[in-house]
Amino acid sequence: MRLIRFGPPGAEKPGLLLPDGWRVDASGLGMDYGEEFFGGDGLQVLTDWLSAHQQKLTTVDPDARLGPPVCRPSKLICIGLNYADHARESGMAPPREPVLFFKATSAICGPYDDVLLPGRKTDWEVELAVIIGPQAHRVTEEEAMSHVAGYVLHNDYSERNWQLERGGQWVKGKSYDTFAPLGPFWVTPDEIPDPNNLALWLTVNGKRVQDGSTSNFVFNVAQLVSYVSRFMTLLPGDIISTGTPAGVGLGMNPPRYLQPGDVVELGIEGLGWQRQVARRAYAEREK
Ligand code: ZN
Repeated sequence: MRLIRFGPPGAEKPGLLLPDGWRVDASGLGMDYGEEFFGGDGLQVLTDWLSAHQQKLTTVDPDARLGPPVCRPSKLICIGLNYADHARESGMAPPREPVLFFKATSAICGPYDDVLLPGRKTDWEVELAVIIGPQAHRVTEEEAMSHVAGYVLHNDYSERNWQLERGGQWVKGKSYDTFAPLGPFWVTPDEIPDPNNLALWLTVNGKRVQDGSTSNFVFNVAQLVSYVSRFMTLLPGDIISTGTPAGVGLGMNPPRYLQPGDVVELGIEGLGWQRQVARRAYAEREK
């Protein structure tokens, strides 16, 4: 199943993307794609609601904005350097244990919203993101996949100056508004038989800069869910973003960062595609 949220920022409603391409309004369900949905039997309730209302489903205005397909989660956890080729281009060794950092959940936005450039070194990262279902605390790798509710495409934007040149933790460079476009839809695991073998790509102004496969993960999805759950309780609807392959602007010689007007497009096999146009966050650069 492919699930969407649509409407203006902050007022999105839940919906579905049917196999024939129709977008259906599911706000009559009375439940959004958040903690209650992912922690309980939300999917079953939705399936029952769908079959009961099959004859009277409302379609979504084709011009409606698509928002992030899940509600704002309690945590957006990112994995750093989870592809050996990206670790190499960043000048770092592949990690012996997963590298964890946070992104502010206020950075989450829709898949076609503009990306704001708050500095001169804004960079892209196409990533597979995992949505947590039932709460996970100290789960084993064998148990981990039963705590996965689905998958979603994520562009983990960074302001590299703030991330790497201003001291402290990476979170500072990862959290600006619009730095976490999610969507266009999230999918249930039956749509993605092997999350550890998906093609993913990203273009800037039509030029392909990232072209990878999750088969090159240093740590796979089950290992990551299990690992993160040792350090914190993963709540239903929480998101773990699994890292990016090579081809980010930081790794180019010379580095290539986003300029106003640049168009970023990205996709993952089975998870659709996104498109963002870059624009300055504010007229005069502030420190
Ligand atoms: Zn990343």
